[in-house]
Amino acid sequence: MLTNALRARSLPFAPLRRSRGSLWSRAGAPVEYLAGGTTLVDLMKLDVMRPAKVVDLGAIAGAHDAISVSSDGLRLGAMVKMSAAADHQEILKNYPVIAQSLQQAASGQLRNMATLGGNVLQRTRCPYFRDTSWAACNKRDPGSGCAAMDGLNRQHALLGASPDCIATYPGDFAQSLIALDATVNLTGPTGDRTIPFASLHRLPGAMPNAETVLTPGDLITGFNVPAGPWTRRSVYLKIRDRQSYEFALASAAVALDMDGSKARQARIALGGVATIPWRSREAEDSLAGKILTEEVAEAAAKAAFASARPRAHNSFKVALGRATLVRALLQAAELEG
Ligand code: FAD
Ligand code: SF4
Repeated sequence: MLTNALRARSLPFAPLRRSRGSLWSRAGAPVEYLAGGTTLVDLMKLDVMRPAKVVDLGAIAGAHDAISVSSDGLRLGAMVKMSAAADHQEILKNYPVIAQSLQQAASGQLRNMATLGGNVLQRTRCPYFRDTSWAACNKRDPGSGCAAMDGLNRQHALLGASPDCIATYPGDFAQSLIALDATVNLTGPTGDRTIPFASLHRLPGAMPNAETVLTPGDLITGFNVPAGPWTRRSVYLKIRDRQSYEFALASAAVALDMDGSKARQARIALGGVATIPWRSREAEDSLAGKILTEEVAEAAAKAAFASARPRAHNSFKVALGRATLVRALLQAAELEG
């Protein structure tokens, strides 16, 4: 449950002026937690997020900033900094997909500030969402429309989109958690619970503004990654417009359970191409029990993108996404389990 210390650190924020001139009322507006602030403060400065209250998690950071490894697996506190997990020796050795997803995210300065809990809840980089001079954005202003649908949609999603929103989920770490079958610990007004990480994010459907299954007041306290022979044989591959400090155009997190050269089971999550961190069961099923050759990897990648729905400017991502997954699978197959 949330502590008194946390409540005592809650910071009231003055109402912010909306771009169209009216003062936004505090009534009914959400309370947001402040971790590293690299998403929240950014979006408050842009006037995209306007919380009535911001609750600083600094007061309870010490209770949720540990990394522990046991024979059962890995536990990551929600307040662990991205850099601490990316550079952790045990994670580098036994959970490389996690270390790689974090090393390739953002910049060194951001990773030193940002937390794992905040990372999985970062908001889309859709330019129409981030720029309030665009009136039409169902995610920012429900019912207002979607400027990206017929606008510039090069970065946007091929998978999981709806007629109301085609924004991509921008992060990297979430895909590694899905590829390793992680769970997430939550606490909130109704008590503590643990859910599969893969069920945290919601498809946009008719409510793109509701991005997760979290209810008001829910706090992420940590992540659990079960041990298994596939955690060492795991890879995160990220393709982007420039080699650092850039979000994914396509990415693949892959963890392989191999029996010799045969894929007993593959776990696959895609980034940069979908509205949520995307587990590809189609690709996993296509690989199961097969010798992992390039042709088999290509067939799996084709299955992964069979339901892709490109828009005017992002059809290149189908080939890019497939090639990214093929490379990630072949790289992971080369690793020792
Ligand atoms: P905050 O900004 O403090 O919080 C983010 C959101 O999560 C808020 O809504 C907050 O209320 C909520 N929150 C935070 N902690 C909790 C919790 N424990 N429980 C419940 N709610 C919580 N990320 C990538 O993955 N890959 C990239 O390539 C990448 N590039 C970036 C480039 C730039 C220029 C910037 C500014 C960011 C980039 N990021 C990238 C995003 C960055 O990693 C996130 O902003 C960061 O991880 C968020 O963590 P934070 O601790 O700062 O979260
Ligand atoms: Fe808004 Fe989603 Fe449309 Fe972008 S894609 S403008 S976030 S509704």
